Amino acid sequence: MLTFISTAIVIAGIWSLLYFRASLWIWTAVAWSTMGFWAWADLSSPILQGFAWVLLIGVSIPLNIYPLRRQLITNKIFSLFKKILPPMSDTEREALEAGTVWWDGQLFNGDPDWNTLLDYKTPKLTDEEQAFIDGPVEKLCVMLNDWEITHINHDLPPEVWKFIRENGFFGMIIPKSWGGLGFSALAHSSVVMKISSRSVTAAVTVMVPNSLGPAELLLNYGTDDQKSQYLPRLARGDEIPCFALTGPEAGSDASSMPDRGIVCRAEFEGKKDVLGIRLNWDKRYITLGPIATLLGLAFKLFDPDHLIGDKESLGITVALIPTDTPGITIGRRHFPVNIPFQNGPNQGKDVFIPMDWLIGGQKMVGQGWRMLMECLATGRAISLPALSTGAGKLASRATGAYARIRRQFKTPIGRFEGVEEPLAQIAASTYMLDAVRVMTAGAVDAGESPSVISAIAKYHMTETMRKIINDAMDIQGGSAICMGPRNYLARSYQAIPISITVEGANILTRSLIIFGQGAMRCHPYVLKEIQATKESNTEKGRKEFDLALFAHAGFTISNMARTLFLGLSSAILVKKPVQDKTSRYFQQLTRMSAAFAMASDMSMLTLGGALKRKEKLSGRLADVLSHLYLASATLKRFHSQGSPQDDLALVQWVCENSLFRIQEALMGLFRNYPVRSLAHFMRIMVFPFGQTYRKPSDALGHQVASMLLCPSESRDRLTVGIFLPTDITQVTGRLDSALQKVVAASPVEHKLRKARKTGTLAVEPEATLIDRAIEAEVISSAEAELLRSANTARRDVIMVDDFPADLGLNTKTAPVSPVNKEKTEEPNKDDDDPDGNDNDRQNIHPIRKNTGR
Ligand SMILES: Cc1cc2nc3c(=O)[nH]c(=O)nc-3n(C[C@H](O)[C@H](O)[C@H](O)COP(=O)(O)OP(=O)(O)OC[C@H]3O[C@@H](n4cnc5c(N)ncnc54)[C@H](O)[C@@H]3O)c2cc1C
Repeated sequence: MLTFISTAIVIAGIWSLLYFRASLWIWTAVAWSTMGFWAWADLSSPILQGFAWVLLIGVSIPLNIYPLRRQLITNKIFSLFKKILPPMSDTEREALEAGTVWWDGQLFNGDPDWNTLLDYKTPKLTDEEQAFIDGPVEKLCVMLNDWEITHINHDLPPEVWKFIRENGFFGMIIPKSWGGLGFSALAHSSVVMKISSRSVTAAVTVMVPNSLGPAELLLNYGTDDQKSQYLPRLARGDEIPCFALTGPEAGSDASSMPDRGIVCRAEFEGKKDVLGIRLNWDKRYITLGPIATLLGLAFKLFDPDHLIGDKESLGITVALIPTDTPGITIGRRHFPVNIPFQNGPNQGKDVFIPMDWLIGGQKMVGQGWRMLMECLATGRAISLPALSTGAGKLASRATGAYARIRRQFKTPIGRFEGVEEPLAQIAASTYMLDAVRVMTAGAVDAGESPSVISAIAKYHMTETMRKIINDAMDIQGGSAICMGPRNYLARSYQAIPISITVEGANILTRSLIIFGQGAMRCHPYVLKEIQATKESNTEKGRKEFDLALFAHAGFTISNMARTLFLGLSSAILVKKPVQDKTSRYFQQLTRMSAAFAMASDMSMLTLGGALKRKEKLSGRLADVLSHLYLASATLKRFHSQGSPQDDLALVQWVCENSLFRIQEALMGLFRNYPVRSLAHFMRIMVFPFGQTYRKPSDALGHQVASMLLCPSESRDRLTVGIFLPTDITQVTGRLDSALQKVVAASPVEHKLRKARKTGTLAVEPEATLIDRAIEAEVISSAEAELLRSANTARRDVIMVDDFPADLGLNTKTAPVSPVNKEKTEEPNKDDDDPDGNDNDRQNIHPIRKNTGR
């Protein structure tokens, strides 16, 4: 009995040390004390004791005496580690090291501190920012006629361009000291979200100058002269910026660009022998490019004559170039899937620029990739998340209302279980989108530049938008398919591939970036180990590697123990940050965070550099990390809004869905893991009782979907911040008004149904039913008026546009095929202009004409 008790105590002790991640010296002290007690109590045979002492001395001494440990263990692992480390170029390393680690670090750690999450400051709009949203943004939304923009003019109208420029929309991120609006990330995001619920074309136009581009780069790296020259002009909209990185040969792998600059001396603006760069480039897909007056350009710089140093290949460099500089061809347009924001190619042929046009001047030569990667995280955390949330809120509000208003089989379609399912997904996903939008913007406002989180937000929010819009299209049927001014979904549907492709194409982002960068940046030890291997010849490097390695080993073993323990106990003993119906989700997310930490370490350890090519596996690990973040943000939002009970079902739906997706991703990892024995081991550790997470139930889905079917506070909270006009000539205004009327008339309809059932009213004819009901005193005249008004509104909502037989197309000119264009035209060659400056002067956009470029 005594032996049993002491064995149980030892096992519990070991488990506790593992669970609470005790340091090596605590392990050693506990092991020696236990052995001392064992010897003193004389609990077992001397042979067994002797064996245990030999083991203890043999293990604890080399582990605790550094020179011995280094000789016997660290040096050997060091060589192995260098071999399994994935090969990494400088550009990859700079991309990986860019940005900061925030809540993602906690999720990678396997033991997130939920109080830290709940204590993060929830960002709030200032009065000034709110006034801008209620004033100029509202006015802009009223001015926008998306049908005319997308179908007739293929551009924003001149008065809208003027309004946007004059009201500072292009300078939201520029501080007030430089003449900008100096808005927070939350305000910037809220402006884009509201505009996107009205016109994606306008939202993209406003979003781009405030994302990665000249202003952001100048603010972070520009010289004082450059800042004072350009920032006030950018803030006023006197300069229209664009940023050109992508070209025909360099898309996702932008660092492989063939665009070159050669350091040389030349005559410039009347001065002889000016030190500068001769540039040749070919870029495409550049947003605002066709109307830009200021071009941010990324290129590779070479110095073959060693005019500025010993090195010949200097790396990616970024310059700011006025688009009227001789040798630049710019102005032609691409036509991105019927969302006609300004976007197009540009080329440069032997363009000479002086050295001080480099952003940050000559000292920033070769720093371009690092600059871009550092700035990318911030913009990516804001723009597309805002756009996606705007789409989600519009679909929740409009499609929810439509599902209540539209009837088939004498029933509002939103009441059919089949429709309820996608409606619930729309509502709950929108809640999650807004939660992630606000939390991520809050991180940026707190000074973070969270690179991994911004990749998660970009990927999952645009993918969620894709799902939401597809679901909304299904629910709305023909009314979403027939194009025209009344169609509020089709343009969002068409815009999806754009959001999916830009700022890091989604497949690449999921399969390579999220986990790849996460593993390096957010893991508590991997980056330290990698950095230490770079200093492998120094004592400092070896020592740092040794410390990181042993801490990492402890971390891995502890996560294994924690994963199994949390699986066996269903995480019931994990400390809850709150005591309510969401507390179990915190516990389950802790359990999955430990499982993720263990699976990540095992994957890195056994697959090493090969994991980089195993994109299907790293994509699944990315899904786990991402859903941990999405669910965290959802819980954070619920609690920071004071836990409104009406929203609880939304939170439950999101958390249950995320836990289920995490389980699917982990099971996918285990089923496909190449080292089969390890796969079985991990599956048993993570899911000792099998797969216990379930998709959100039908009953929960019903609760969530019902929120969209009638006006309520939670529906308003869910869709707050989008353009919500009361004017019934506007889409959302018309739908909201019709919804109110239909809901108000619902009891009257009930009376009519009852009267027809009991025979008080004859079923036919339908056309005179209301009049006959008044006569028979089934309903009052006031009730009849309610019903008539609801019927008129309902009819108005379900109507779609129709056109003359030619759809109005005969008034349009046929587009030029890019294939034919390539055959007949040489780039940079201009029939009218011998300098080849601009191919199409007659077609020049009014903005460039006005600014003289
Ligand atoms: C409307 C629009 C606006 C844009 N605006 C700008 C702008 O203002 N400035 C600018 O510089 N660029 C801009 N871009 C370019 C944009 O960033 C690129 O389109 C994007 O980087 C992808 O390049 P690509 O289209 O050539 O696709 P590709 O790079 O050819 O990729 C094709 C597919 O392969 C996948 N893929 C590629 N590599 C991998 C990998 N290692 N693992 C897994 N999958 C992979 C991608 O995910 C994608 O699905 C814009 C593009 C569009 C369409």
